[in-house]
Amino acid sequence: MNRRWHAELGWLPGQGVQRDVLIEAEGDRFSAVNVGALWADSPPGTVRLKGLTLPGLANAHSHAFHRALRGITQAGSGTFWTWRERMYQVAGRLEPDSYLALARAAYAEMSLAGITCVGEFHYLHHGPDGVPYADPNAMGRAVLTAAAEAGIRITLLDTCYLAGGLSAGGRSEPLSGPQLRFGDGDADRWAARVEALGPDSGGLLGRYARAGAAIHSVRAVPPGQMHPVVAWTHRYGAPLHAHLSEQRAENQACRAAYGASPAKVLDRAGALGPGSTVVHATHLTERDVQLLGGSRTCACFCPTTEADLADGIGPARALATAGSPLSVGSDSNAVVDLFEEARGIELTQRLATGQRGHFSADELARAATVAGHACLGWPDAGEIAAGGLADLVTVALDTPRLAGTAAATALESVVFAATAADVRNVVSGGRDVVRDGRHLLVPDVPAALSAAIRAVLD
Ligand SMILES: [Zn+2]
Repeated sequence: MNRRWHAELGWLPGQGVQRDVLIEAEGDRFSAVNVGALWADSPPGTVRLKGLTLPGLANAHSHAFHRALRGITQAGSGTFWTWRERMYQVAGRLEPDSYLALARAAYAEMSLAGITCVGEFHYLHHGPDGVPYADPNAMGRAVLTAAAEAGIRITLLDTCYLAGGLSAGGRSEPLSGPQLRFGDGDADRWAARVEALGPDSGGLLGRYARAGAAIHSVRAVPPGQMHPVVAWTHRYGAPLHAHLSEQRAENQACRAAYGASPAKVLDRAGALGPGSTVVHATHLTERDVQLLGGSRTCACFCPTTEADLADGIGPARALATAGSPLSVGSDSNAVVDLFEEARGIELTQRLATGQRGHFSADELARAATVAGHACLGWPDAGEIAAGGLADLVTVALDTPRLAGTAAATALESVVFAATAADVRNVVSGGRDVVRDGRHLLVPDVPAALSAAIRAVLD
């Protein structure tokens, strides 16, 4: 089906914000983009997009089920590790049906926020006590179904998670309690299970779903078990993600166990490179920054989660300068708002350094769009350009937050002041998913979230 939109303002690659942009698509891809086309001259059937239209946003790091913990984990104080215990309680209660309902509702919230593609860092694989379901990929398939039903493209980052952690002295501890559900025994069995998802030779699981892999962290995967995961990603050209140096305790235990930083351990395992993404990258040495940047490894920042969990502030500017593309993720889904994540990269650098202007609005918007898609294995998405996947996000400029926006600084206004609530229209692969702020596939998103969360907490 051919479609046509007229964007009052559109953010275009290499051209910045332009007025009166006529955007055409054939099927799920853009076929033409023309600037300076007056609305009055638009052909019949053209959809008018008032406000600033961006390409689809990519949420490069999500754990959908953490959405059930929003607010609950803000009561009292606690640490990253007490937060993890509460998260394990929810993980312990999910079954394929309840996981599907929760993930579908969480992804619908993401669609309303302008996210058209999600990287789901998925480690909740097996039944309680670690007994596989009849289909050992029942939980992964629930996530894939949830994304399809919410109209969001997905990279299922199937996560290898073999050990319960590293003791302060560097001893690898076995999985226990709720963690038993995460483990496949060893990395070869992990690879065999992922293989059963049935990716095609390019790693696709469907038109809008891709398989990827993750090494949960150096805490959860011993270095000797990393090779099968890396080899699997090479076979399919699939993206590889890993949590990296989120907490200082992880670095200390890693040094005690392996005599090297987590980044160096991943490097030795061949897990860094342009197809790889490290998530958080908070507590790095200068040598780590050079390893990541020099290998063109992407760094995914999740500023709202990193603030929520008191992780710290990673060296975003140093990484970008060293050569790492940056992307953003909502991670724990304590907040789902990629505008807040994108500006969080710049604002946390300001707080850490006492200086402004580390990243331009254009660089931050690229992190939330084209760079995020690339790190999830969708290099042909995230830009409004002929040939790319036809994803559009229109941000209204007549809301209380954005009224008074000037065309010349519309991107700055949106990156630094918009919220998810300002998103009006979302098109994914040429198909409307959100129209006038309403989700077309999940009719009552708050009710869906509320029912799904109640089902796992009660
Ligand atoms: Zn995470």
